[in-house]
Amino acid sequence: RKFVYDFTEGNKDLKDLLGGKGANLAEMTNLGLPVPPGFTITTEACKVFLESGSEPPELRDEVSAHLDALERRMGKRLGQNDDPLLVSVRSGAKFSMPGMMDTVLNIGLSDASVAGLAAQAGDDRFAWDSYRRLIQMFGKTVLGVDGDLFEEALEEAKHAKGASNDLGLDAADLRQLVDTFKQIVAKEAGREFPQDPREQMDLAIRAVFHSWNGDRAKLYRRQERIPHDLGTAVNVCSMVFGNLGPDSGTGVAFTRDPATGRQGVYGDYLQNAQGEDVVAGIRNTVPLAELERIDKTSYDALMRIMETLETHYRDLCDIEFTIERGKLWMLQTRVGKRTAAAAFRIATQLVDQGLIDEAEALRRVNGNQLAQLMFPRFDETAAKDGARKLGRGIAASPGAAVGKAVFDSYTAVKWSRSGEKVILIRRETNPDDLNGMIAAEGILTSRGGKTSHAAVVARGMGKTCVCGAEELEVDTKRRCLSAPGGVVVEEGDVISIDGSTGVVYRGEVPVVPSPVVEYFEGRLAPADARADELVTAVDRMMSYADRIRRLHVRANADNAEDAARARRFGAQGIGLCRTEHMFLGDRRELVERLILADTDTERGEALDALLPLQRQDFIELFEAMDGLPVTVRLLDPPLHEFLPDITDLSVRVALAESRKEPHENDLRLLQAVHRLHEQNPMLGLRGVRLGLVIPGLFGMQVRAIAEAAAERRRAGGDPRPEIMIPLVGTVQELEIVREESEKVIAEVAAAYGTELRLPLGTMIELPRAALTADQIAEAAEFFSFGTNDLTQTVWGFSRDDVEASFFTAYLEKGIFGVSPFETIDRDGVGSLVRGAVEAGRAARPGLKLGVCGEHGGDPESVHFFHEAGLDYVSCSPFRIPVARLEAGRAAG
Ligand code: PEP
Ligand code: MG
Repeated sequence: RKFVYDFTEGNKDLKDLLGGKGANLAEMTNLGLPVPPGFTITTEACKVFLESGSEPPELRDEVSAHLDALERRMGKRLGQNDDPLLVSVRSGAKFSMPGMMDTVLNIGLSDASVAGLAAQAGDDRFAWDSYRRLIQMFGKTVLGVDGDLFEEALEEAKHAKGASNDLGLDAADLRQLVDTFKQIVAKEAGREFPQDPREQMDLAIRAVFHSWNGDRAKLYRRQERIPHDLGTAVNVCSMVFGNLGPDSGTGVAFTRDPATGRQGVYGDYLQNAQGEDVVAGIRNTVPLAELERIDKTSYDALMRIMETLETHYRDLCDIEFTIERGKLWMLQTRVGKRTAAAAFRIATQLVDQGLIDEAEALRRVNGNQLAQLMFPRFDETAAKDGARKLGRGIAASPGAAVGKAVFDSYTAVKWSRSGEKVILIRRETNPDDLNGMIAAEGILTSRGGKTSHAAVVARGMGKTCVCGAEELEVDTKRRCLSAPGGVVVEEGDVISIDGSTGVVYRGEVPVVPSPVVEYFEGRLAPADARADELVTAVDRMMSYADRIRRLHVRANADNAEDAARARRFGAQGIGLCRTEHMFLGDRRELVERLILADTDTERGEALDALLPLQRQDFIELFEAMDGLPVTVRLLDPPLHEFLPDITDLSVRVALAESRKEPHENDLRLLQAVHRLHEQNPMLGLRGVRLGLVIPGLFGMQVRAIAEAAAERRRAGGDPRPEIMIPLVGTVQELEIVREESEKVIAEVAAAYGTELRLPLGTMIELPRAALTADQIAEAAEFFSFGTNDLTQTVWGFSRDDVEASFFTAYLEKGIFGVSPFETIDRDGVGSLVRGAVEAGRAARPGLKLGVCGEHGGDPESVHFFHEAGLDYVSCSPFRIPVARLEAGRAAG
């Protein structure tokens, strides 16, 4: 095995081995771009170190050989006293990881060689400045000294000198600072700053290896779902200097605007500075365009290189560069991060430039980005008004929310019941806040990150959330929020929070609908003058996706309005109409009568009263989806859900009793509630079990469906209902329902004098159903995977409780990176799905297969369903564009 690669030996496809930074440095070297020479120690070496606790034995010699070669090439030796070669040591994993140790610059400087550097550069100040930076970075990242101590010492030195920034310190001041820094190291690290250059380098390399398992790095990997066993590479690169005077400097650049995707000159430049100054914001940078005036030759060279890189990578690149006395050097490049809007624009621009094809363009965007573009947002001009800005936290769950500030759940619920819109503000949330979170428009916390309780739960609920806004102080006792600058928000004051940027505003910032939604709604055509480039880009990507996807996309919808919207959004039918949603509101009383019925006659009357209502629901639904399949699921939830709450009812009965008022009905209801009470209703009398236990219930629903179909046909429509039975565990259940249903359908067909072919199928949402799919397929014309209940029953997780109870702990411990109710658990639930697909199709060739759990609209899960060979996914109307896009990406 080879553990060290010269920059001339690698290429951009070796990211696993050389990390992103190393692979791209090699790529740029091979492109003939000006990269300072150097070498990369592989991730393999890091893995050996992490597993065994020491470097692979061969590593030292390999590093020596590469260092020798580098020294020969540069004509000087590492740390050589009269003319030292200096190097940087930089970490670089496959994925860029801000949680990791980044860089130690100027390795090779020592008390002896600092004079050599000064002589060679003809600049004392520069040499001492470089040395103090080395001790500072080395002390902090390699020896673990608190970085603030160095910063404070630097501040003090500036203060003593009356200097406003570090350029005000001269060579003597910096020399003094070096002494102070060395004392800090000796005191805090319990050892002297190492004077041997090779020791400096070896210690820095080892520190990079170690940093892979730093707390922040581990947390970041868990959040971003980066595997823990990849290890990091280490790049050793000869130093070039941006701090050699005004003809030197350092900067970052983007080949396009990462916020909008527009082409142009984007970046920042800082004269007479070293790399970390730009990031740390120590002095004010100037816009990159200014470089043209400062150093036209370097500017022109940089523009040419950016063009080369974009054409070569066929994508937006970001770049770090340094200019040393008028000579431009490339220190890093990578395919750059970008906003959702920029991703869509750039993908289509690159197609137009002929750099990528449509299939590649689809790979460059994703459903999560599309979902982000569909949230309503704050009116940009209003949001720009700086006076309104209170502060910024972590953008935890996108959206734009406006409401009155409340500081506890109780108030949130109380105010929202009386019609107020509220924003729940807490230091951090816990499961007790759940009701308040549900009642609120949005949630703001001052503590916690992207996996905090607030963030996880809010994302699960699709609520806007800004968390970890640490500059805002939440005082729940005094019910107020203090922002920097003395602004105080009291309970009842209106605030606005932007879950896509993390910004919190005072007062009401106007919200505008997303142009992308306007487009999907058909209110904004790409050719429309109001449509910007984004709408056109989305339109084009959607048509690429539609052209190549195999999966159909249906909607979960149970009223005509949702169905019509779903259709506008591109739904190819309804995959799940939950009929229980048609039993609510005024109809609840009829359902109560059904439940309370003691005799067949009473029950028959209750069902007869429900029948025309159900029929009318279906007529409207079939009309909205005319010509497309509509899967109607028969009643699923346990009956007690239609009855009043047991506590409320008991109180009512007790009160009436004590007041000697008539309460016969309530008493009967209460008895029914007791009779139907179950410890575990989700595993109780629901779904097909109800249909088998309550005579006539399913028959009534089937009749309503069949009659609605016949009516629609009469009216010249093309209704395509499919009847779906929930919670089936064994084929016998299905056979009984099938027999009864077929009889009803035949009766209706005869009565209307028409032929009715209504496919009857089942949900697969219990493990037993999946495991006996071959038997069930004998009685089912289609399967629809109910992955909500299937996840619940496979994991034994209560779908209604876990997200608010122990999931935060599970996510924090990295047991899973995302809730299995959100993204399908491929190994467990997914394996049952695959097995059922295979067994079902073997038993009944041509069996139609779909999914209607929440996973049907989740990007990663859509890919799984594509791979598993389903015919369609079904999801809520708003997720349909996301599912279409991801189905296209899965097929591409
Ligand atoms: C499911 O269980 O996945 C499903 C779609 O049914 P429901 O969510 O209505 O239980
Ligand atoms: Mg279900």
